[in-house]
Amino acid sequence: MIKYIPYLDWLESQYELMYQSLFEVCDINSGSFNIEGIGKVQKYLEKLAKPLNGTISEIKQKPMQVVNSRGRIERINLGNTLIIKKRPEAKLQILLGGHMDTVFPVDSPFQKTEHLENNVVKGPGVADLKGGLILMFKALEVLERSPWAESIGWEVVLNPDEEIGSPGSAEILKACAKRNDLGMIYEPAFPDGNLASDRKGSGNFTVVCRGKAVHAGREFHNGRNAIRAISDFIQLIDDLNGQMDDVTINPGYIQGGGAVNIVPDLAIHKFNVRIARPEDESWVLDRLKSAVSKINKKDGINLELHGHFNRKPKIITDSNQFLFDVVQDCGTDLGMNLSYRPTGGCCDGNNLASAGLPNIDNIGVRGDNIHSDEEFMYPESLVERAKLSALILMKLAYGEIKWNHKRGL
Ligand SMILES: [Zn+2]
Repeated sequence: MIKYIPYLDWLESQYELMYQSLFEVCDINSGSFNIEGIGKVQKYLEKLAKPLNGTISEIKQKPMQVVNSRGRIERINLGNTLIIKKRPEAKLQILLGGHMDTVFPVDSPFQKTEHLENNVVKGPGVADLKGGLILMFKALEVLERSPWAESIGWEVVLNPDEEIGSPGSAEILKACAKRNDLGMIYEPAFPDGNLASDRKGSGNFTVVCRGKAVHAGREFHNGRNAIRAISDFIQLIDDLNGQMDDVTINPGYIQGGGAVNIVPDLAIHKFNVRIARPEDESWVLDRLKSAVSKINKKDGINLELHGHFNRKPKIITDSNQFLFDVVQDCGTDLGMNLSYRPTGGCCDGNNLASAGLPNIDNIGVRGDNIHSDEEFMYPESLVERAKLSALILMKLAYGEIKWNHKRGL
């Protein structure tokens, strides 16, 4: 352990810089659909990565398909994925990842980063996960300053669309997972510093229901009410809750109708499904399809189902358990008592794991209240967590941790 200490101690001198970067990068709005803002964050991060001397490239992503308010499919452009690589020829390859987007759109009232009296920093993305990116770059800087860096290679992958389920970057992540041996993702740790183990899988679906519009007074009986039909559908799928352990269906959005003297001919419903096991996917899909065909039997009603499971459940494999143990041991060396617990939330760690990459996915800052305008992080966790990542990287590079797990296991 003693040989790593001077390199880890250097991080103390970097606190002010990290703290300043946190404010600068979080004050740039980068809601998932703010391509310009995401581009600015990307440039900012490229600047932070300069001392690492890696090879920088960007990948243009496929547009995202959404169902618009008229029930038609629309394509929405997204930002680019930023990739920074070093020593791709080394035997051991480590993926370090995160996202550049936040859940706060350009017109959100939550735009400013501030230091509160109780010594927390509040701001959009401070925990989820721009704070994590800042410490990730510093941890890599520690590795590069150490004498052992040459024996491992790394690849930083930063996508612009994680908060909307990574629709454009999913394929890129899959390819990255295949060429690396293990992954470290900088989602925030739980507020007590602990880490996530199993994660549920998730799917987002949209149902478009079309009926027939007529005047509600003159020929009501000739109309086909799309709102009634979609309500019947919602009831069918909501009744699936409780039928299978850890599978939940959340009807989350409904739109339809207009003037109340017209029988509505269009209604749209969006819902989210969470599953715990890969096989739950087909259980859910079969039941969704039969609910759709049941409603479609009604005269003059047409229901269309869009969407899919974009994140598979993250199941902890032996390789992943080995990685968890490594992180826990490094934590112990640094005086942190880290433990793991499962969560219903999902992230790109799910995508990478389903492509065969063992990964730890919330090794970023300590913080809480993410996805709300009360999001905060503990600034002292910048150095604390940078040390954790740096120690893992140095131990892997030195060979103190032997990573014998084959790719894709
Ligand atoms: Zn996140």
